[in-house]
Amino acid sequence: MSRYFICGALLSLLTSSLPAHPQKQPVSVDLLITNATIVTMDPDRHVIEHGTIATRGDQIYAVGPLNNYEVMFQKGVDAKQTIDARGKLVLPGLINAHTHVPMSLLRGLKDDVTLDDWLRNYIFPAEAKNVTEDFVRWGTRLAAAEQIRSGVTTFADMYYFEDAIAEETKAAGMRGILGETFIDFPAPDNKTREQLLAYAEKFLKRWQNDPLIHAAVAPHSIYTDSEQTLKDAAALARKYNSPILIHIAEIKKELEESLEKNHATPVQYLDRIGLLGPDVLAAHCIYVNEEDRKILAARKVGCAHNPSSNMMLASGIAPVVEERAAGIAVGLGTDGPAGSNNDFDLMEEIDLAAKLQKIAKMDPRALSAKSVVEMATVEGARAIHMEKEIGSIEPGKKADLIIIGLDTPNAVPMFDVYSQLAYALKSTNIETVVINGQQVMRDHKLLTVNEPAAIAKAHEYQIKIANSLK
Ligand SMILES: [Zn+2]
Repeated sequence: MSRYFICGALLSLLTSSLPAHPQKQPVSVDLLITNATIVTMDPDRHVIEHGTIATRGDQIYAVGPLNNYEVMFQKGVDAKQTIDARGKLVLPGLINAHTHVPMSLLRGLKDDVTLDDWLRNYIFPAEAKNVTEDFVRWGTRLAAAEQIRSGVTTFADMYYFEDAIAEETKAAGMRGILGETFIDFPAPDNKTREQLLAYAEKFLKRWQNDPLIHAAVAPHSIYTDSEQTLKDAAALARKYNSPILIHIAEIKKELEESLEKNHATPVQYLDRIGLLGPDVLAAHCIYVNEEDRKILAARKVGCAHNPSSNMMLASGIAPVVEERAAGIAVGLGTDGPAGSNNDFDLMEEIDLAAKLQKIAKMDPRALSAKSVVEMATVEGARAIHMEKEIGSIEPGKKADLIIIGLDTPNAVPMFDVYSQLAYALKSTNIETVVINGQQVMRDHKLLTVNEPAAIAKAHEYQIKIANSLK
């Protein structure tokens, strides 16, 4: 047990939630991170130099400047564990607002083709032949290792066998909004509509009130789902207060087909059938006009922007600047990882999100470093409708934190912390990751995922998948 004393600023934060006789005994906390540069992402975007964060249970208990031990007074802290973060940054955990984690095992299967070609001629056949519950479990483990290394503490997923993904996500200690896919063809897990509805309902029921897992439904898109499927998915989600994850306005063809078939844009069509609401997280939102953006903002739909994916598949450039100006919360996602990105590196998405808007507008001021760090943290939390729980380092929020080292050549000098985060620091600079108060990576060592086993299994699956497509 280590004991630290607390300065006035921190004490005032601590005393607000102390028992009746606080002076009698030191406050006990689980983890004390000291001497850190804390990028809080709180409403005033405070950056605290030489700060301390105390966590207790699954929550952040106190945050404050605590560098001067001489001015500490009467109270102490008993911390089960202390991390000296001198010369390091501490940030809220990053939020990957859109991905398909088991597809880690299909990484690089086929690249440099159109989305339609890739989906229909490679991914759907490969999935039909290979995706089993075992595949999904190993893919999720591999992805968990990679995501934790990239500083991701929460992710939104859309795939099959989502119940198994939930078990693996929980085992890895990660927070997930996990959506069971609704699609109008026999899926690897559920062959009929009846099976799918029964599976999805059981899945939503099972994870109600779980501290890490938010079970969701994921109608794939308007071009793979009938109106009935979309409505069934939404009705089921709303019965259980579960989130709805969907791809919206990802490709131009989707817009053109919707205009022809529905006489409406994808957003206006989905609004007309009652799907849009404050429980919806929409991936991509590329082909959204001014009216669409007003609708998305009014319905409080969150958007997930996926710059790598949009560039790799040449889908288009999302009007992120206009979306944010309209009041839409826009988070960042990796999508993929197969075919549409090939990794889960959210630090890369932060960098690319800013640069993609700059080149689209031919204006380096279009989207700032600070804005893209917001999109990966506090605004991402708003996009996935979890802003009350995560996204910033504030007392009472969940203890989802990442510690970033600054002792590599790419990390120095540092004149502006947001600029460094967006354009200079890499996921390899992330040293320690805490989710829900639990350390899942410490000094680059993963603590909740058997990484060598996941890598070995990926090699095995590579051979199996290649043979299946011969
Ligand atoms: Zn996607």
